[in-house]
Amino acid sequence: MTTKDTSGDVRLSGIGKTYDNGFTAVHPLDLTVPQGSFFALLGASGCGKTTTLRMIAGLEEPTSGTVYLGDQEVTHLPPYKRPVNTVFQSYALFPHLDIFENVAFGLRRRGIKSVKKQVEEMLELVQLGEQARKKPHQLSGGQQQRVAVARALINHPKVLLLDEPLGALDLKLRRQMQLELKRIQTEVGITFVHVTHDQEEAMTMADTVAVMNAGRVEQLGSPTDLYENPQTTFVANFLGTSNLIEAEVDSKSGDDIVLKAGGGKLVLAQARCSAPAKTGGKVLVGIRPEKISLTHADDADSIPEGRNRLTGKIADASFIGVSTQYVIDTPVCDEFAVYVQNVERDGRLVPGAEVVLHWSPAHTFGLDAAQSLL
Ligand code: ATP
Repeated sequence: MTTKDTSGDVRLSGIGKTYDNGFTAVHPLDLTVPQGSFFALLGASGCGKTTTLRMIAGLEEPTSGTVYLGDQEVTHLPPYKRPVNTVFQSYALFPHLDIFENVAFGLRRRGIKSVKKQVEEMLELVQLGEQARKKPHQLSGGQQQRVAVARALINHPKVLLLDEPLGALDLKLRRQMQLELKRIQTEVGITFVHVTHDQEEAMTMADTVAVMNAGRVEQLGSPTDLYENPQTTFVANFLGTSNLIEAEVDSKSGDDIVLKAGGGKLVLAQARCSAPAKTGGKVLVGIRPEKISLTHADDADSIPEGRNRLTGKIADASFIGVSTQYVIDTPVCDEFAVYVQNVERDGRLVPGAEVVLHWSPAHTFGLDAAQSLL
């Protein structure tokens, strides 16, 4: 039997940070990042994600709780005694050293003389083998960032911390680097903890995402789980666009909840509802724009049975290439967003047209209306 490697586990137990001015940037939180995973801390500016990362790195002293890396408690250890390395948005490369020497720096500082093989391997890993003798200013932003990653990885940390590492790159380069970082992480197999405010970035790269809001982890899960089963309006709106309809619980039917909204009925699986859903109570019914079909009101009879339906009127339509984005006024919600793939386009679906919006109950999620309106 092989024992599971836990040397790269990151475990935060009740970790919190209140700054000297009394401001609590991180409320005590528990978080476990398993060895070898790509973990993202995602949230808007000021939500406490960098403070959390800095507490893992040892750059910020927590005011409560304990940090473990593997089996070792490191809460009060200085950064250089922790098996971690951090890559920042500013690459902080040494401008006077070439790429080889930038990457070799950590080894040389530790007194290691024969660095050639290790540095070359690291440069191959980040696909910069050809650039070894160039100076940082002769490389693109994406290449410089890869040097920073190689320089951090050459010390063989158990955990690599990345603080908005792609923030300075333009969109195209950022997308390339997202895939590149994911490839590197898979290849080296160590734990990556990545801080970003960009939901697409977190979802592209991470196995697990912690969505942070005002110093707390609002929800933790895989990208698909967070997208398909958000538990709060914050998560529903932070990851993509959500249409939210306030509805009243009418009855339960098997595994489903039947709700009243806008004079009609909507069906929601109980398993997809994070609200208590008592009869007569309010639930926010959520539906992603790309899950909705639009049918001209004249053809409403062609809509199959068993679909959730709402009537509405097209307020706006924008062709954006791969799809058309519609804004629909409905009795339950103004500005309902609907994205329709162009294969389904119907020339009658223009502003002013009366339409029926319909979708599968399987694509519906339910949120606690009371809690979400706080
Ligand atoms: P950003 O993406 O803008 O860096 P963030 O989510 O990483 O945001 P943090 O840098 O962790 O946020 O900061 C969290 C909150 O703590 C912010 O409101 C910030 O102003 C505050 N903060 C950070 N450092 C200090 C400090 N030294 N003293 C007081 N407040 C601070």
